[in-house]
Amino acid sequence: MGKSGCSFILLELLLLQCLISLGQGYDFFYFVQQWPGSYCDTKRSCCYPTAGKPAANFTIHGLWPNYNNATYPSNCNKNSPYDGTKVSDLFSRLEVSWATLACPTNNGTKFWSHEWEKHGTCSESVLDQHSYFEATLNIKDKVNLLHILEAAGIRPDDNFYKVEDIKEAIKAGTGYDAAVECNSDPSRNGQLFQVYLCVDASAKDLIECPVLPKRKCKSSIQFPIF
Ligand code: AMP
Repeated sequence: MGKSGCSFILLELLLLQCLISLGQGYDFFYFVQQWPGSYCDTKRSCCYPTAGKPAANFTIHGLWPNYNNATYPSNCNKNSPYDGTKVSDLFSRLEVSWATLACPTNNGTKFWSHEWEKHGTCSESVLDQHSYFEATLNIKDKVNLLHILEAAGIRPDDNFYKVEDIKEAIKAGTGYDAAVECNSDPSRNGQLFQVYLCVDASAKDLIECPVLPKRKCKSSIQFPIF
């Protein structure tokens, strides 16, 4: 094949790649985990789910499609409402790893349907409802944030830790930079609230974030007991 034939194939491949990424409608995911002790320790109250008090572990907030330019799509398909019958085989895993803390006490359906309808529908061209929840649970199982932090001596013991040390521990444990989001308890202490890591568009592997969300924290923050 001549040189021009090769460049034509290359061009076609580039075009195909471009069309695929246009079709999927997002560039990567934020995988957001939350410390339940911080969710519950704000002025806003929390309620344990019907299944009972969640274990003292990070839980999933969501898997959010995002663009490289720091914006994100939302509520992408009104015709694709959350349907529990499609994920009923995942309920026991969802109850443990994607626990609701909203009041009044409920089984999680409201939280999961919010996350599917606002975020999941925007990656539906790649992940149907079952794949979306299953892929998120699988990432959670791969990234044991509590274990990673504890290995660095950072424990949910009400003590204060430097945000920089928390980020460094996550980098050492996962290989990737994370963003940390804080909240304030009623005495205005900054607390470790959510951790953002990035995941490739097929929701399989962690990647370096194309753009890290800007979240402000005090330099030293509490890791509250839960
Ligand atoms: P999002 O719109 O995906 O950014 O999520 C924000 C919504 O999720 C808010 O309505 C929060 O109250 C809710 N939310 C966040 N964490 C939890 C949780 N652990 N349980 C129930 N709802 C939550």
